[in-house]
Amino acid sequence: MSAPTPQPGILDIKPYVAGASSASSTPGTHVSRLASNESPLGPSPRAIEAYKQAADTLHRYPDGGASALRAALAERHGIDAQGIVCGNGSDELLALLAKCYAGPGDDVLFSEFGFLIYPIATRAAGATPVVAPEPDLRADIEAFARLAGANTHMVYLANPNNPTGSYITAPELRDLHGRLPDETLLVIDAAYAEYVMADDYDAGFTMVEDFDNVVITRTFSKLYGLAGLRLGWAYCPPAVADVLNRVRGPFNVTAPALAAGLAALGDVAHAEAAREHNARWLPWLATELRALGLVVHPSVANFILVEFPESSNGPEPSKGQGGAIAALAHLSSHGVIARDMGGYGLPDCLRIGIGTEQDMRAVVAACAEFLSLSEG
Ligand SMILES: *Cc1c(COP(=O)(O)O)cnc(C)c1O
Repeated sequence: MSAPTPQPGILDIKPYVAGASSASSTPGTHVSRLASNESPLGPSPRAIEAYKQAADTLHRYPDGGASALRAALAERHGIDAQGIVCGNGSDELLALLAKCYAGPGDDVLFSEFGFLIYPIATRAAGATPVVAPEPDLRADIEAFARLAGANTHMVYLANPNNPTGSYITAPELRDLHGRLPDETLLVIDAAYAEYVMADDYDAGFTMVEDFDNVVITRTFSKLYGLAGLRLGWAYCPPAVADVLNRVRGPFNVTAPALAAGLAALGDVAHAEAAREHNARWLPWLATELRALGLVVHPSVANFILVEFPESSNGPEPSKGQGGAIAALAHLSSHGVIARDMGGYGLPDCLRIGIGTEQDMRAVVAACAEFLSLSEG
């Protein structure tokens, strides 16, 4: 028997498993969807209006050059529109970069607890994933420097990182870049940049302008609340933008996404409200959960990583499951959907997104009950 065979690497891909979208609580109770780092404020009403307006012209192809959105992004960030390439979510651009810059026999380097799309995109390109150990749940520049060599065609770094919530500072980012070969493309995935309040953080736009081998990706899925529309963008040196523009689909971003993205960008007050909401409830949730005795890793993004060690087994007898699995089930039965971290190699942890005030209070109440049941 013979059959079509996919390219090398494809069947080594562990399919991406998205966060759960339903809870095991009784129907009718409030459900807190905190598994996918979505914005609790939703999109700007102006973005929704622009999306609806776009319905009138659905028979038209979108502007394949995304000129209006690119111009608005360039103006907002003080960068060059020529270097901006829009994508069907930043995931598309992250995958295209691997396809364009790495292939069979080439290494792609990323950190141990980096975003799950990186190994998928690497293998889909036929390249070899190389993993930099991350002892403190934070990108280890020494490890990157040690592992980066002539064969390292690309480095992915999420800054801040999902799922750890940690970040590296602007000087550390420059240091990391300085220790990579000039031929290595450094892809900085800054999906959560808008949330970071720390003064020593920088998304890195100036690095794109200073060097030929740095690309930054950004998204409308998180702060702008447009995850369902799929809209992301990359800021690239001219040669990299040229490459992406050759390989991307000519109409890779839909017209409603372009219209809604432009409107969302224009609603500065809504974006600022989302940022302020996060700045208030992120530390609140971390403090409340720490007060319960839980280990909460420091986060600058819109989610936290919480440890539920084996000993906190909850109401059910262990059955050999980790505390995190029992906690996940307990939270779900109370309408709180968190994200299990087994796929990330952090089986003792759950990732919990920052939601509305009601969501946050529900998380604390459900965690408190979980811990008290496991003690009793
Ligand atoms: C959510 C997320 C993205 C965004 O992906 P989109 O395809 O733009 O929705 C990118 N990188 C990381 C690390 C993320 O967590």
